[in-house]
Amino acid sequence: MATIFEKIIKRELPSHIHYEDEEVICIDDKYPQAPIHFLVITKKVIPSIHELESSDYYLLGKIFDVIKSMTVKLGIEDSYRVLTNHGSQAGQTVPHLHFHVLGGGKLGAKGIK
Ligand code: AMP
Repeated sequence: MATIFEKIIKRELPSHIHYEDEEVICIDDKYPQAPIHFLVITKKVIPSIHELESSDYYLLGKIFDVIKSMTVKLGIEDSYRVLTNHGSQAGQTVPHLHFHVLGGGKLGAKGIK
């Protein structure tokens, strides 16, 4: 079954897209946990960081390039948090690799979930 993020990539679900290329898409989180909360999602469906293989590692560089440029674009480059969840006990709800980026205000100690 397609993940929510696959449906967003295919435009079957609406989202606010900040950036997109062949490998990643960057969208606003629908339920933001900070004044600015966006997601950088791989287009390749990898369930989480735990399933990343060495042949996928180039995607991490791409993801962090996008994170850096998006934080500058959104004016939060001085302070932000990046996190990814693996497994339900850690709070993962969508089994499709994505990194949360939170900023724009004082963040709590724990991040999300
Ligand atoms: P995680 O819980 O770490 O797997 O992160 C999944 C994130 O996807 C959560 O922060 C949700 O708020 C977010 N989310 C769920 N549905 C949507 C959607 N349709 N558009 C954008 N973000 C979503």
